[in-house]
Amino acid sequence: MLTILKLLFNLFNPRKKENQILVKVLTEDAESDYLDFLNQDSSCSCHINPPCYICTHPGNPLGLIESDYDFELVNVEESNNRIKYDDLIRSIK
Ligand SMILES: [Zn+2]
Repeated sequence: MLTILKLLFNLFNPRKKENQILVKVLTEDAESDYLDFLNQDSSCSCHINPPCYICTHPGNPLGLIESDYDFELVNVEESNNRIKYDDLIRSIK
């Protein structure tokens, strides 16, 4: 019961919201696509048959960072175990 009250309080307390630090992280679906991409053994074969499976893979970070719906905003406290937008940017540089 107390938890529900706290939740409602936070929901309707605009001052609390202003102080929240939000982090852009992959949604759970996009994260599993990305982890699947990392497990691929093959590399780009566009020189043989473009566009190749690797370049069109839904978890390819080059495609993910262009997408809006593959990300969500969470509180910084909840972002610890999530894959962040900044992590993807760093991985492709
Ligand atoms: Zn390719």
